[in-house]
Amino acid sequence: MELCDCIEPQWPADGLLMKYQYISDFFIALAYFSIPLELIYFVKKSAVFPYRWVLVQFGAFIVLCGATHLINLWTFTVHSRTVAVVMTIAKVLTAVVSCATALMLVHIIPDLLSVKTRELFLKNKAAELDREMGLIRTQEETGRHVRMLTHEIRSTLDRDTILKTTLVELGRTLALEECALWMPSRTGLDLQLSHALRYQNTIGSIVHIQHPVVSQIFNSSRAVKVSQNCPLARVRPLMGRYMPGEVVAVRVPLLHLSNFQINDWPDFSMRRYALMVLMLPSDSARQWHVHELELVEVVADQVAVALSHAAILEESMRARDQLMEQNVALDLARREAEMAIRARNDFLAVMNHEMRTPMHAIVALSSLLLETELTPEQRLMVETILKSSNLLATLINDVLDLSRLEDGSLELEIATFNLHSVFREVVNLIRPIASVKKLSVSLSLASDLPEYAVGDEKRLMQILLNVIGNSVKFSKEGSISVSTGVAKVESLKDARSPDFNPVLSDHDFYLQVQVKDSGMGISPQDIPHIFTKFLQSRNSANRVSAGTGLGLAICKRFVTLMGGQIWLESEGLGKGSTAIFIVKLGISQNSNECLSQIVSRTPLNFRPDKARLQVLGADDNDVVPTKPWYELSV
Ligand code: ADP
Repeated sequence: MELCDCIEPQWPADGLLMKYQYISDFFIALAYFSIPLELIYFVKKSAVFPYRWVLVQFGAFIVLCGATHLINLWTFTVHSRTVAVVMTIAKVLTAVVSCATALMLVHIIPDLLSVKTRELFLKNKAAELDREMGLIRTQEETGRHVRMLTHEIRSTLDRDTILKTTLVELGRTLALEECALWMPSRTGLDLQLSHALRYQNTIGSIVHIQHPVVSQIFNSSRAVKVSQNCPLARVRPLMGRYMPGEVVAVRVPLLHLSNFQINDWPDFSMRRYALMVLMLPSDSARQWHVHELELVEVVADQVAVALSHAAILEESMRARDQLMEQNVALDLARREAEMAIRARNDFLAVMNHEMRTPMHAIVALSSLLLETELTPEQRLMVETILKSSNLLATLINDVLDLSRLEDGSLELEIATFNLHSVFREVVNLIRPIASVKKLSVSLSLASDLPEYAVGDEKRLMQILLNVIGNSVKFSKEGSISVSTGVAKVESLKDARSPDFNPVLSDHDFYLQVQVKDSGMGISPQDIPHIFTKFLQSRNSANRVSAGTGLGLAICKRFVTLMGGQIWLESEGLGKGSTAIFIVKLGISQNSNECLSQIVSRTPLNFRPDKARLQVLGADDNDVVPTKPWYELSV
């Protein structure tokens, strides 16, 4: 059997190799011992490192490796057993610690790897945060610009200044070449260039509101990029060989101001917009940034708000001016009215005293003159004087009554009086006058008519005399019948005026009086006018009779004051007429008690046999005989 020569023959110790190994082991040992020192330094400094004990273990492993190499220095030459034991112990320990470290590394590597992943994730997060910070900073910047612009825009409330400031501030903030505003025209069919930052000579240019680009911008709430050649961008002159900058346009909502009528403000019956056009400098590579567009949109909204405020302010200023003008006019009218009242009061005073007194003197003296011996011509002349004076006196009394009625200063004198007597007195007064014209006058008092009533006796008499006097005046022949009674409320419901609303209490009753004559009558078309002051029937025949056209107007006011109504009925001209009136009177509680009052207050001294009633009274000129106010002339 052949012997294997794979076993190397015993190699004698080589001095040089030994020397190199010796030096190498020394340095290895040195390096091994220095590494733990570095590790200790690292552990001390990095407080956050999670695997400190692994490092300690690793350090121990290295120290042991170093110790093995160090001990090795003594094994190159012949050495003692102690060195061999120490060497063995060191190697065993190194083997144990190195295996433990290797196992530990296997255990912690996945952990270390996940730390790495987390680190990567954190890095990404940090980058994201960085981007967000940038965005926030941009937004802050935009907000600052908007605030600045808003402040500038809102610091004025004049529309023109607002628009100009907006363009100037936007132009400066965004470094624009041009910034222009197109406003809707009054008709709402066009947009007109109203403001421009630089190129003023294009102001007034017009673009039709239906232009597709305009519609596109109107339909979007965002700033829209438009072509440099579109009509909205033709604000600046053509640049020749220069490349025009990018253009954006944004709508500016205008307040719905249908409640206001602002002179040069377009008609906003529907939602309207103005248009803002912004241009970047020509021949620059600059493009619109998103945050710049956002700024433009926000500013457009701010301009809209500021414009609305300005418009409302303008309107309120206009309303204030109008109010002031109205106040001035009102003040003037008030002063004029006061002057008119003063003039009327003066007039009334003159009428009341200065005219009535001589009038009474003329009437009284001519009445007395008639009693004396006169030639027929003289009698005729005196009678004419008396007739005219009577007419004038009546007119003065009527005018006085009417003006007092109109200014509300006339009040009824309410007292208990004998109602039956009033009618008899009036008829007795009228009868002699009627007899001159051969007219018969009849009086019928209903059985239910109370003898006493509470009201203004004098004014009731005045109404009766006027109405019956008219019948006498406008009748040439025939008869006049006066009938009176208590009117039932139900029968009053169908009264002619819709405003008339009869209401009765337990203490009142409605007196109805009807005066029917067979006179000239009145045409239906004249009836509505006869209660208007100074108006008489257009029938020429009437004008023959003396009259002022005030009698019925006064009667109507008295009747109204007495809570009643008056009207006239006639079948037509020549068919007679009927005057009807109703007034509210109080029911007298104690008729006996008032009888004495009535007797003592009756001032008249009747002479029914005479055509006129005469009273000789004392006036303030002491000697003038006066004539009662109800003297009638026919
Ligand atoms: P005047 O002073 O003219 O009588 P009135 O106010 O009393 O004024 O009457 C107004 C007009 O009404 C009279 O001018 C007359 O045309 C018409 N009128 C009034 N009563 C009668 C009547 N009984 N018959 C015909 N016309 C009358």
